Amino acid sequence: MSEKILIVEDERVMRETLAYNLVKEGYVTITAADGKKAVELARAEQPDLVLLDIMLPGLDGFEVCRILRQEQRIPILMLTARTEEIDRIVGFEVGADDYLTKPFSMRELLARIKAQLRRVRLLREEFAAETSSAPLQRLRFGDLVIDQERHEVWLGERLLPLKPKEYELLVFLAQRQGRTLTRDQLLEEVWGWDYSGGSRTVDVHIRWLREKIEVDPANPTRLVTVRGAGYRFEG
Ligand code: CA
Repeated sequence: MSEKILIVEDERVMRETLAYNLVKEGYVTITAADGKKAVELARAEQPDLVLLDIMLPGLDGFEVCRILRQEQRIPILMLTARTEEIDRIVGFEVGADDYLTKPFSMRELLARIKAQLRRVRLLREEFAAETSSAPLQRLRFGDLVIDQERHEVWLGERLLPLKPKEYELLVFLAQRQGRTLTRDQLLEEVWGWDYSGGSRTVDVHIRWLREKIEVDPANPTRLVTVRGAGYRFEG
């Protein structure tokens, strides 16, 4: 079954271009030109993902995101023309799953959408596995395998010597593949700290992890830095 994407954008040409390209990729699309309509459509149509512009008449993208976040667990990908909004977008207050800065390429957009939908599928499978008390899932990313039942991480034939916090951080990131997480989010979720002063702790653990799971730790491809935002596990 095709996945349904709600496109929220007030500029007609942009909205139609997005819809055209997503339909071409096999998605079903619904569109809204303002925030109020977006919330109504999200409630009525239960889309699998929301593509949300920030500058909208009436309710803006921030408000729409906040409302939807309280009601549904669908991935929200925000579109922004201003890089200074990024902290707010991925922060707790708004809580979008990812963002793209305008102008962006259609290729990039499709990659981000795929990543978000894949993440949701993984979470759903995990939830199904947990509730049926089946053994914990193995997360597999090429030659990197995370065995959640044994708490082991393998790279090909090699068992990696991870410290407990490195393991927890890796699992947390890997379960949210494709999603950018801020240092503060990681601190709060993995360490349980709710202050930002210790964010260097995150950087240090990321560096240690890279030394173990990356082919070239100086040029990471699995655990990437998202400039001005945080980190993302690519797989
Ligand atoms: Ca707009």
